[in-house]
Amino acid sequence: MNINNPTADQDTHFFGDVCKNFDHAAQFTQHDAGLLDQIKSCNSVYRFRFPIRKGNGFEVIDAWRVEHSHHQSPTKGGIRYSEMVNEDEVMALAALMTYKCAIVNVPFGGAKGGIKINPKNYTVSELENITRRYTVELIKKNFIGPSIDVPAPDYGSGEREMSWIADTYATMNPGQLDALGAVTGKPIALHGIAGRREATGRGVAIAIRECVGVAEDMQKIGLTTGLSGKKIIVQGLGNVGYYSAKFLSEFGALIVGLCEFEGAIYNEDGLDVEAVFQHRKATGSILGYAGAKKEFKNTMDGLEQPCDILVPAALENQITAQNVGSIKAKIIAEGANGPTSPEAEAAFYKNGGMIIPDMYANAGGVTVSYFEWLKNLSHVAFGRINRRFEENSNLNLVNMVEGITGVALTPMQRTTIVKGASELELVNSGLEDTMIRSYHEIREILKSNPKVETLRNAAMVGAINKIAVSYMNLGVWP
Ligand code: NAD
Repeated sequence: MNINNPTADQDTHFFGDVCKNFDHAAQFTQHDAGLLDQIKSCNSVYRFRFPIRKGNGFEVIDAWRVEHSHHQSPTKGGIRYSEMVNEDEVMALAALMTYKCAIVNVPFGGAKGGIKINPKNYTVSELENITRRYTVELIKKNFIGPSIDVPAPDYGSGEREMSWIADTYATMNPGQLDALGAVTGKPIALHGIAGRREATGRGVAIAIRECVGVAEDMQKIGLTTGLSGKKIIVQGLGNVGYYSAKFLSEFGALIVGLCEFEGAIYNEDGLDVEAVFQHRKATGSILGYAGAKKEFKNTMDGLEQPCDILVPAALENQITAQNVGSIKAKIIAEGANGPTSPEAEAAFYKNGGMIIPDMYANAGGVTVSYFEWLKNLSHVAFGRINRRFEENSNLNLVNMVEGITGVALTPMQRTTIVKGASELELVNSGLEDTMIRSYHEIREILKSNPKVETLRNAAMVGAINKIAVSYMNLGVWP
């Protein structure tokens, strides 16, 4: 792999695709070619192998951690547990993290980790051994720490794995006050933060709501404004897909299709997301759900059913030159990283659609991970210090207004106005603010530069400009 010129390699696809998008957007910026090269390249690629005990013998596990950019510290990015993980994929995902953080103004560089296993083939105790040993390998090479590199969940990992990482890191660094800030996505009982689990999906739903709220853009692609009644298909019923579908339903959209790796289901009148989720939990499959009007053994057929919006939220490379012509949606909102190939994107726009790109659409997770990291460094939950003070001030104000006007509020009105914000409310409000502002910042770049054709190009132009400023301010030493 030629790290400095990945697009020249034959065997790279995903990282090559990310670099293609970068190169395209870089044309619309004014930066020195060397600086652009520095931004694009992966700074550190750590590939390692370690043994675990399996049965009566050993098994050697392949793993990676890639730190793409150090223009901000720490670097940040999830750890993927999948037998399909490879170096190219981890590099691509690390690069996307850099651009994603820049787009939503989260002050981190990008990183990503990968462990090449299918978690379903291991016992819980083996998974714990793998996770702890992976963490120790990172510690040995200084690839983890609250001010160095902070992992989080990704495909195949969740709160349980983050707990093991936090405990291993804290154990190996006794007395380090900020040790729990070395990883995010932890359970709340282990200094995680309210709202992190659902943050990526909530962010995807807000991103779509913002996009369909712009009348001018909807007119261009032949959709009405607003989410109410919009027909949506979601691929993947994991963390991102499940919560995206749940919040989109809550915002008034109809989830008409759900696709998992065992197949897909469809009902043009809408599916009950929670009921499908429970059905899958009980039977191991979304197929056989009584509320579906159509079933498909091949999950890819599910993507091609009639809808307004398609949310791929499983894995990369799902919409390609081969199937893009059969996609009926007008909007693709990328919950997953890299689900649309560059060729498919060009064809989709040519057919009159638009794409809300991964590096913005799924940035809700890293945004709330940033809040969790801040909470861990400050050692206090959001809202704890000021909530009662806020409530007392609100109460004084309500009493004063009632006194002046002579109008008494109902108990319900009083409670709503007086109540101070909980951690969850503050997190959700910070997340919503970030997603709304970032969407319009990207759209503004698109509108103000006629040569920038897509939201992805616009998002990348914005990211490159912000990262370039950081590198220029840092200077080069020695
Ligand atoms: P997850 O492991 O929780 O869920 C993934 C789901 O996709 C699983 O239910 C799996 O069965 C399903 N799936 C796998 N292959 C499929 C296929 N071919 N068709 C349909 N479904 C399939 O993973 P996740 O955390 O939800 O991550 C999904 C995507 O979102 C990944 O690309 C990840 O990088 C990205 N992402 C995740 C987060 C996060 O906070 N978890 C943040 C940003 C981006």
